[in-house]
Amino acid sequence: MAGCNNPRMQGAIAELDELERIVEASRGRVEATVLARVGDFPLYALRLGSTSVQAPAVGFFAGVHGLERVGTHVVLSFLASLVTRLERDESFARLLDEVRLVFMPLVNPAGMHRRSRSNANGVDLMRNAPLESRERVPFLLGGQRLSRRLPWYRGDAGAPLEPESEALCRLVREELLPRPVSLALDCHSGFGLRDRIWFPYAHTRRPFVHLAEVHALTALFCESYPRHPYLFEPQSRHYLAHGDLWDYLCAEAGSGRVFVPLTLEMGSWRWIRKSPRQLLSRLGFFNPLSLARLERVRSNHLPWLYFLCHAARTCRQWLPAGANR
Ligand SMILES: [Zn+2]
Repeated sequence: MAGCNNPRMQGAIAELDELERIVEASRGRVEATVLARVGDFPLYALRLGSTSVQAPAVGFFAGVHGLERVGTHVVLSFLASLVTRLERDESFARLLDEVRLVFMPLVNPAGMHRRSRSNANGVDLMRNAPLESRERVPFLLGGQRLSRRLPWYRGDAGAPLEPESEALCRLVREELLPRPVSLALDCHSGFGLRDRIWFPYAHTRRPFVHLAEVHALTALFCESYPRHPYLFEPQSRHYLAHGDLWDYLCAEAGSGRVFVPLTLEMGSWRWIRKSPRQLLSRLGFFNPLSLARLERVRSNHLPWLYFLCHAARTCRQWLPAGANR
């Protein structure tokens, strides 16, 4: 496959090697393309399923923040499970006749390699979009242009998007925005004791234009999995930020089509509470360091990711319409 012979040192990022192994194991079912290169690292997009522009789609994203490796692990576990299941489960294989799936499991490989939240230019990709909040954002955390040496740096005013942000937006424009219905899940870690599913917006406390659709989707999930671990809430409930890529893409999608980008924010404080030694390592703030716990986290989120695929397929049955909406 493209990228296997790239000049990257083998083993430089274990997650990239894992991604390439999964694509090879899929024996052509998963189409891999390199959207761009950042230094030695490819930015992979993986696609499978229906190519009809009318088909609903789900996009899975992770590794926007290089330190939050566990998000990439969750998406890769899901992809590996999906590839195995496609071989053995005909009814699941038929789901892909009706749904498009796209993956960008490692948006910021350079950040992951250098163990930083930002990319190699010091830019926080989730503050990089040309979108200003008109409300009060927290100092620094809400995005800043003071210095790339400080966290949450947005990039220079008026500069083009960073290549990783540009690649993510291009994939969303190609695969999600043209369709009547699309969902996205971007996997992060590091906030709080609970696992949260955040929905837009990040730049304003105004209600999300697709709040009714989010409500219907989460009600369906809660009925199917009453003991699920998630808190569903708007990101703005915690803090506001400039430059959120998903808010930027929501503005582009408008209200004429259903585009619902969600963020899985895994609560890493819980792992720290169980094992305070994690505080001794930079990665320990954002990832479970014990292998057994990492394995549990990798599989705990699979039902939610599978649910999104099934929800996309049956969207006509649960999307609110008319007075219901
Ligand atoms: Zn993050």
